Amino acid sequence: MKPSHSQERSKRAAGQGAAPGARTGAGCLVLVATPIGNLGDITARALEGLKSADLIACEDSRVTAKLLQHAGIEKSLLAYHDHNAEMMRPKILARIAAGERVALVSDAGTPLISDPGYKLVQAVVEAGLPVTMLPGPSAPVMALALSGLPSDRFLFGGFLPAKSKARREAAAEAARAPVTLIFFETAPRLVESLRDLQAVLGDRRAAVARELTKLFEEVRRDRLAALIAHYDEAGPPRGEIVIVIGPPEEQEASQDDVDTLLRRALRSMSVKDAAATVAAATGTPKRTVYARALELAGEK
Ligand code: SAM
Repeated sequence: MKPSHSQERSKRAAGQGAAPGARTGAGCLVLVATPIGNLGDITARALEGLKSADLIACEDSRVTAKLLQHAGIEKSLLAYHDHNAEMMRPKILARIAAGERVALVSDAGTPLISDPGYKLVQAVVEAGLPVTMLPGPSAPVMALALSGLPSDRFLFGGFLPAKSKARREAAAEAARAPVTLIFFETAPRLVESLRDLQAVLGDRRAAVARELTKLFEEVRRDRLAALIAHYDEAGPPRGEIVIVIGPPEEQEASQDDVDTLLRRALRSMSVKDAAATVAAATGTPKRTVYARALELAGEK
């Protein structure tokens, strides 16, 4: 059944009325992901979206002009970056409200991910206008996927602060989360950042993903201390970098821990039950704990 006009209006007011992708004649903000190095990674939908846009809002018009030239697209560009966003936002909104299709791109990768756009999306949604996305490359997601570290839960921390004290504070905030951590870092600061991360997080498993999708793409996977040793010897690397750090690892229970728990359990339980309880609590193999429980029970 066709939705009524009032249903359509309330959907639009809730920001759900966007016609995804296709050109409809209605105004729309279209977030368009672009390559993070290899121009071949632009999607067919992104090219179509850029071609059919009335206007492309971009961070740096020189960077986007190069991409458009490569793709054979001629289009008027409007700079939208941190320094003019307040001023440009109402203008972009007015054009969408007037029925224009405005594409938003960043210099590289997915807009809004450590790039401008979030306040524009917020304003478009609040104005009840449609917003959709043509998804594509993003460095943090690619680095996570290639890191070999758990990808089921992760925390993206954006750029690490430039100063050591603030960097350690950022690491300490993230340390409590039992998830993989992802940070952006510049090449000249990589080693000092890895040192701060190790000081706060311990010698966790990590990966340094560099120059992704480019000629010298490299993913170096090791513990933080070994990565620091490598870059100390090899010198600072070049290019764009994402650091990925594994979640805290479960500490193996020491023999003392197992003994203490077993002695306590044996006061009220059979050897078999005490061993099963302590094995479950410490992650130590059942057979090992049972053998030790027998010894301790025999000492009584
Ligand atoms: N929005 C972008 C995205 O979705 O990938 C990220 C933009 S952020 C301003 C730029 C940072 O992303 C770089 O400083 C670097 O840390 C990371 N980055 C971007 N491209 C990269 C690449 N090809 N290889 C490794 N890191 C990259």
